[in-house]
Amino acid sequence: MSEVGIDNLIGVAEAIAVLDNTPVTPRIERIALPGADGRVLAKAVSADRDYPPFDKALMDGYAVRAEDAGGSLRKVGEIAAGGSAGVRPLRAGDCVSIMTGAPLPPGADAVVPIEWTSLAGDVVTIRGNVRTGNAIAKRATEAKAGDGVLPAGIHLGPAHLSVCAQVGAALVDVFARPRVGVLSTGDEVVAFDTTPVGSQIRNSNSVLLSSLVRRYGGQVDHLGHVRDDPASIAEVLSTPGLDAILVTGGMSMGEYDFTPRVMRELGYELAITKLKIKPGKPFVFARRSGPAGKDAGPQFIFGLPGNPVSAFVCTVRLVSRLLLRLQAASPEPKWDTATLTTDLPANGPREFYQPVFAEAGTVNPLAWGGSADVFTLTRANALLIRAADEAALPAGTSVQLLRFP
Ligand code: AMP
Ligand code: MG
Repeated sequence: MSEVGIDNLIGVAEAIAVLDNTPVTPRIERIALPGADGRVLAKAVSADRDYPPFDKALMDGYAVRAEDAGGSLRKVGEIAAGGSAGVRPLRAGDCVSIMTGAPLPPGADAVVPIEWTSLAGDVVTIRGNVRTGNAIAKRATEAKAGDGVLPAGIHLGPAHLSVCAQVGAALVDVFARPRVGVLSTGDEVVAFDTTPVGSQIRNSNSVLLSSLVRRYGGQVDHLGHVRDDPASIAEVLSTPGLDAILVTGGMSMGEYDFTPRVMRELGYELAITKLKIKPGKPFVFARRSGPAGKDAGPQFIFGLPGNPVSAFVCTVRLVSRLLLRLQAASPEPKWDTATLTTDLPANGPREFYQPVFAEAGTVNPLAWGGSADVFTLTRANALLIRAADEAALPAGTSVQLLRFP
């Protein structure tokens, strides 16, 4: 059952080590806060003042001295949100009408929600007991002035953006999105908005890869399509101003599979060629030292299989790591474990990434339609990982899953 030449291929772990040990130089840029959604923070953000900045009412009601509450109090003033706490300190038996977000008057140590009270003239009657600290937030309990509130390296999401806004970080330092070219090659491939004739097929890889690149934080430069012609491929692979290019097609051993040769002729080191991964054996990682020059091609080129599922798997498992590292983000993907609902046969000699649908801790393998079957991939939400030469697995086995980005 051994595949031809399998012993000459490197394993996935080895390929990951090559990728992770390849030096990268992430760029930092300062941008306006609203545009920072999803970006990786490059410099820590700290609190410009205490949060809350003052002892604050958390509900509409009356600011009181808790020891007095539990009977009738005299209303001596009113403080709205944004208002001033500069009223005179509360004296025994006093209370002040207060709104959510307003500063507590001196001497008050609790807020009685309006629902627990009734008002007649300036007499406030309180039902039940009120404990010290009720419905208030003390100054600096969320953050103290100067505290680091967001560390460098995190992906900015809704809560992080809110914190930046609160502390007045109107401009934030983030890592630049890698600029990634996407190129398809192959004489049989035509644009997706045209009608194929004979054995032609539409280019589906460019949109698939562009979507993945964006999910990993990259910005896409559409490099279009070229035929299986070394000079045309070389020209597009020399596009300036890019960090990386993803190119599909022509990566195998066929007579018209020129791409690896072209990379070598352009001065790239082929750090990975052919991989013990299923699907995706034809995988090339080409690199050259130093960041991209102004008039030269990118520092990194990924040669991906032409088959869509193979291109998908290689990008999710391998290309993603470098794209994330180019933004100084962690390259680690989202792992999961789940229980098999059906038996699986023994695996072959390549590490196998099988599209599956995982739900509520169980995993349903989808009938493996092969590396071209992107239709089945649309029903999957994860890749089930099988080790090389792994024995058959009975239903009920706990397996490892790689979640889609
Ligand atoms: P290759 O990597 O050139 O050996 O191609 C492997 C398979 O992927 C062939 O069936 C190709 O027709 C197909 N293929 C190559 N490029 C693309 C593309 N851009 N979109 C969809 N399928 C492709
Ligand atoms: Mg081809």
